[in-house]
Amino acid sequence: MKVETVLVLSRHNGQELSESSREMLTAARSVAERVVSATFGTPPVEELARYGADEILVADTAAIEATGADTNHPAVWSALAVAAVKAVNPRAVFLASSYLGKEIAAQTAVTLDSGVITDADSVTVENNQLNIAKAVFSGSWATKGEIIRGVPVVALRPTAVEAQATDRTEASVSHIEIEVPKRAIRTRLISRTTRENEGPNLSESQVVVVGGRGTDGDFGPVQELADLLGGAVGATRVACDEGWIDRSAQIGQTGETVAPKLYIGLGVSGAVHHTSGMLASETIVAVCDDSEAPIFEIADFGVVGDINDVVPQAIEELRKAGR
Ligand SMILES: Cc1cc2nc3c(=O)[nH]c(=O)nc-3n(C[C@H](O)[C@H](O)[C@H](O)COP(=O)(O)OP(=O)(O)OC[C@H]3O[C@@H](n4cnc5c(N)ncnc54)[C@H](O)[C@@H]3O)c2cc1C
Repeated sequence: MKVETVLVLSRHNGQELSESSREMLTAARSVAERVVSATFGTPPVEELARYGADEILVADTAAIEATGADTNHPAVWSALAVAAVKAVNPRAVFLASSYLGKEIAAQTAVTLDSGVITDADSVTVENNQLNIAKAVFSGSWATKGEIIRGVPVVALRPTAVEAQATDRTEASVSHIEIEVPKRAIRTRLISRTTRENEGPNLSESQVVVVGGRGTDGDFGPVQELADLLGGAVGATRVACDEGWIDRSAQIGQTGETVAPKLYIGLGVSGAVHHTSGMLASETIVAVCDDSEAPIFEIADFGVVGDINDVVPQAIEELRKAGR
């Protein structure tokens, strides 16, 4: 059984959708008869249709920028969500639970006077109700909830749902007007620079190799292993505090939440503040020289050893295997 309509906030770069937008559309398709995507600019219509959008509502970027606002501002996304909810009357709004997504979810829910759940793991329909699963208390409890007020706003964790395309290529496209709120123009974007050679997006990557204090500042082997496995590099807070790697790589309670198919921790002890951001990983591998380190309690495969011995051997074996 499915609900009637789900609205999905979709991000794209003009050519293609973000991976998490593909996942949100896939999730929406699994619970709704009709999926409406709301976005800005010139979206990739065929791709939106392929991942499940029946209708696409597009707000004009130039008109928004003329007000002095930026389309990346959470207040602008939230205004789009609110306008789209009024236009299509959905049973729920889905979006990705990224930093930006959580902010948009909160602002949208406040404006709509609705309930909101962020970091959701899955959504199913039972008795015509949307059941939302979410891990809480640093992943130690699995909960199922229902939003009973307003139009539910559900932010799903990136990688929680596997994006699956259909063979559809057509969706109807219409324009939507949005009212840019004053709070969106209290700050002004002066410039935006795309970082070169950043590698795969941390929260969307299926392989994440994480360096902790045990790297002693040398992230070269962490990067090399990540590159060989086509993964992203993450870090503990200690490594970021030390300035060994950019803060954006931090995983944990005060960093990114990841749930890759493979997590590899190198010189990471597994403090709860870190593991709360990676516990949902499918397979956890840890290399740490302290056999008592808590990371081994959650690891599927653990090596007690010095990363300076273990990682070069792992890299060599992977190269031999043709990676
Ligand atoms: C409010 C709050 C929020 C926090 N938020 C976060 C967060 O979001 N993310 C986060 O990561 N942390 C966070 N922390 C910090 C967290 O509590 C830990 O201090 C941190 O995760 C530890 O990082 P680590 O594992 O790199 O370092 P350590 O705990 O020092 O562990 C390093 C491990 O590497 C081992 N080691 C050393 N050398 C080697 C070697 N050569 N080979 C193999 N192993 C070696 C050591 O034996 C040790 O087990 C937060 C803390 C607080 C109080």
